[in-house]
Amino acid sequence: MKKKLALALLSALSINYSAYAGNNEPSEVYQYLQQLAVPEKGIGAREAGTKEEQRTADFIAKELEKFGLAVTYQPFVFGKNSLKSTNIIADSNPKASKTIILGAHYDSTGAEKGSLGAIDNGAGVAAMLAIAKKMGSTSNQDINFRYIAFGAEETGLEGSRYYVKQLKASPDELANIKAMINFDTIAGGDIVYVHSAHTKPYRCASKEFPYNSDTSIRNALLSASTKVLGEKDQYTVHPAYPGYPEGVTGSWSDHAPFACAGIPIAYVEATNFTINGEEGYDGYSQTTNPTTWSCFDSKNLSACDRKDEKHWGKIWHTKFDNLETLNQMFPGRIEQQLDQTVAVFDELFSNINKYMK
Ligand SMILES: [Zn+2]
Repeated sequence: MKKKLALALLSALSINYSAYAGNNEPSEVYQYLQQLAVPEKGIGAREAGTKEEQRTADFIAKELEKFGLAVTYQPFVFGKNSLKSTNIIADSNPKASKTIILGAHYDSTGAEKGSLGAIDNGAGVAAMLAIAKKMGSTSNQDINFRYIAFGAEETGLEGSRYYVKQLKASPDELANIKAMINFDTIAGGDIVYVHSAHTKPYRCASKEFPYNSDTSIRNALLSASTKVLGEKDQYTVHPAYPGYPEGVTGSWSDHAPFACAGIPIAYVEATNFTINGEEGYDGYSQTTNPTTWSCFDSKNLSACDRKDEKHWGKIWHTKFDNLETLNQMFPGRIEQQLDQTVAVFDELFSNINKYMK
């Protein structure tokens, strides 16, 4: 009996593995990623201010409309050359008095760096779409889930800064926003972390609103991940390193303007804080995979030669941020990380009152 059970378990495991190795139909969230970041299947590089970025905005808006959400285009102009971009905003229940925002930037760096923006940030947008689809329009009567695809993040958080600026102009709406979760590079790296805003305030554009480094939404997300993924695979917080207490992050992505507007934030990021990278243990090196290093010293988790190292285990903004390359380096990883994120958010959003007391 026991042996039979073990065999059944083994075969179940192997079915799972083959799904992630690409032998079966990919999951919906993974198909979204293909449409966003694989040129033959959809778009590819989506540099801010280009027609590819605009095409991506239209694709995202059309999908969100299909789920029965109220979709708004929020166009804005940015930079010295007055380039155009757009935030796509979708509400599940606009009449509710409490709003929780899930945001992900959809632009990528320019193709000249060789990046197609698969993990940064096609993965974040794909997961946001799959979660929005799962939750639909009537998931919770008391809470509005607002999904925002930000434009022009890579050029200086243009979309999120513009969004928050508009938000500040309507105090009632701002007061309704209970939390913001940022998806930026949620797959590809070795370990999935959740951060809260740094305890030392960011350099905010104005001091009009009290800076918020509350950890409530980060901790809610950690609990939901433990429930869904178990103690072994749950999301984690990074250990303390110089200048950064345990579990906090800097102002380099779309969560920053929200923390500056007094909103509790959480930021999901797949990287590897155990690596001694170019500037130490700062999470910029995302993986121990030797393909992403000139030479990786697996004993000391660092470069073999710190002077000669060229790549430092970085995927973002490099030629490694290409879905085909990523699947060769990490068979099954990207799809698995995306599926897990969708499952964690299904748990969190379906039981939001329990997790956010
Ligand atoms: Zn990014």
